[in-house]
Amino acid sequence: MIVAIDGPAGSGKSTIAKILAERLGALYIDTGAMYRALTYKVLTSDIDLQDKEKIYEIARNTKLDFVKKGSTYHILLDGKDVNEEIRKPEVSAKVFYVADYPKIREIMVFLQRKLSTNESVVIEGRDTTTVVFPEAKYKFFLDAEFSERVRRRQSDLLNKGIKISWRELSQSLAERDRKDKTRPVGALKQAPGAIYIDTTKLSIEEVVNKLLEIINKKDV
Ligand code: C5P
Repeated sequence: MIVAIDGPAGSGKSTIAKILAERLGALYIDTGAMYRALTYKVLTSDIDLQDKEKIYEIARNTKLDFVKKGSTYHILLDGKDVNEEIRKPEVSAKVFYVADYPKIREIMVFLQRKLSTNESVVIEGRDTTTVVFPEAKYKFFLDAEFSERVRRRQSDLLNKGIKISWRELSQSLAERDRKDKTRPVGALKQAPGAIYIDTTKLSIEEVVNKLLEIINKKDV
């Protein structure tokens, strides 16, 4: 069974996908973490972010996996847990260098499909319903009003001890929205057949229940 969830930054898709995977007993694949991990590797390898061929070379020689720790999944970059490192703002700000490159996306999509074989999965990220699994039986597009998405990002970061002003966060979120929507390959958009859910006024539990309800209905 494949459940694919797309949506803009701060729409709640990671939180929801994680809980949903747990409830369904499925593997959780956070595709954003994969792009982030690769970006982190590039940033710590002293490579010019403009050097696409070098980045491609690195991507081809990178091993990405997910390991369950407690109730969540952590990403392993060449065997090392980099779950904390990849959430840092400097990584967020540079992901597009890697994610905008079509040849890198091909590698990532290949890896994502490979990780999804023989498993029940909940896969989440910008192009999972449009490119990675357009044929998935369960496709969702989560969204929320811009200010609510900024608020969620701010509170997520605060929980991790990272303090960023509202102004700075809105600017970086608006910039990420723009880049995610205008990317020539793998751009963020609602896939045909994906169910749109506005989570602005819904609690996490309400969104999870809504998705489970739809999945259970489709299963009958
Ligand atoms: O979801 P998250 O915020 O961790 O994603 C980080 C960045 O990775 C996104 O802003 C986007 O640029 C990129 N990404 C992507 N395709 C995906 C998942 C993430 O391009 N499937």
